[in-house]
Amino acid sequence: MPVLREIEIYKIDEEFRVCPACGYDYGFHTSFLKVDASKKSPVRSTREVFKVILICPECGARYDVGWRVSFTGSEPGVVRTTGHQVSTV
Ligand SMILES: [Zn+2]
Repeated sequence: MPVLREIEIYKIDEEFRVCPACGYDYGFHTSFLKVDASKKSPVRSTREVFKVILICPECGARYDVGWRVSFTGSEPGVVRTTGHQVSTV
């Protein structure tokens, strides 16, 4: 099991399928990482917001491509993200 690396910020061009670190080209696993509410953030929400982190299944490299989601509990909802800002629809 590889040691988890630092999360890299990655800006997607046209497609993000190939791992820049190792060349694995069958896409990524996903995980959710809670955004630290103690840090200053442009997100004005009392709800918990999570980063969607992509993880290379081959080498374990982790990438933050700017996706942010929040979960509302019982009600399914759509969350629109613009860069690092989140608004609910
Ligand atoms: Zn990789």
